[in-house]
Amino acid sequence: MADVSFIGLGAMGFALADTAAKSGRETVVWNRTRGKALPLVERNATIASSPAEAISASPLVVVCVSDYETSNALLGTNDCVSALKGRVLVQLSSGSPRLARAALESSKQAGISYLDGEIAAYTDQIGRADAQILIAGDEEAYSTAESLLKTLAPQTRYLGADPAKSSALNLAILSGSVGLIAGIINGAAICEAAGISPLEFGRDLPQLVMADVDSIAESMEKIENGGLEITDAPIEGWAAIIDLMIQFAEENGYSADVSKFIRQFFGQAANQGFGSHDVGALIHVLRPGKD
Ligand code: NAP
Repeated sequence: MADVSFIGLGAMGFALADTAAKSGRETVVWNRTRGKALPLVERNATIASSPAEAISASPLVVVCVSDYETSNALLGTNDCVSALKGRVLVQLSSGSPRLARAALESSKQAGISYLDGEIAAYTDQIGRADAQILIAGDEEAYSTAESLLKTLAPQTRYLGADPAKSSALNLAILSGSVGLIAGIINGAAICEAAGISPLEFGRDLPQLVMADVDSIAESMEKIENGGLEITDAPIEGWAAIIDLMIQFAEENGYSADVSKFIRQFFGQAANQGFGSHDVGALIHVLRPGKD
């Protein structure tokens, strides 16, 4: 028996399999386009001739293809389902919480131990100290897969038995990323309107943004443990700053849409009585049952 089999050798699957093989693990790989597997032969990996053959070769099977639809089509054949029985399947293709729960359910019925993960890293981070995989599902399966996962991504975090948690946490992190992107591009528009070079704006941005990221991380603690009414930077103060952004956009003829959207969010919290609270209190606007 080999140590691990990888199904899917796109940009990410290849980085995973390459790192596993480099770590000295006996590795079996399968990819639809066989040519992508060839460089791994130099690392002593074995190329399987079908997904079922790859699965049969190892107790631990990692799948990383475009999406769940592709993965379900590949692994849902009778050959694959019967080969997977009694093995640990680690799903690392991106998906949604609903798809992760459905995959756990069908795996359970087929006698497959299932883990669902999201790779919170770029391909060149795989195997590096800062790489992270968010993983959830069967606890016993995690103890089988833990050593491999921590070789691939040393910051791997196990989130418990509910397989939906890895994709949900990944969505939460990406929500932070898209918010940051929208806000920073809005800042670039302010700079353009004022004749400031985007390079000037970008120069100290990482440090400046980190200060806000540290502060919002403290708000998470207040959401969890209380204390949202204590702050030096209340929601109403931020709302006044956003008003200045809207005014500046309107005076300079560029779109105020991003600022107006954020202003509405902060305004709703103020209308609900949280104007003097920490920005963590914005969560009241989003909770189920709120307008
Ligand atoms: P990719 O380079 O586009 O590779 C896609 C993989 O899926 C290839 O192995 C491809 O096979 C396979 N595939 C697609 N359709 C198929 C089909 N109908 N039958 C069989 N195999 C099929 O994508 P990737 O970057 O490796 O991403 C894989 C997963 O990792 C995605 O879910 C992605 O969201 C996630 N991810 C990627 C990154 C990243 O930085 N790349 C970061 C985090 C998460 P062929 O080689 O034969 O086309």
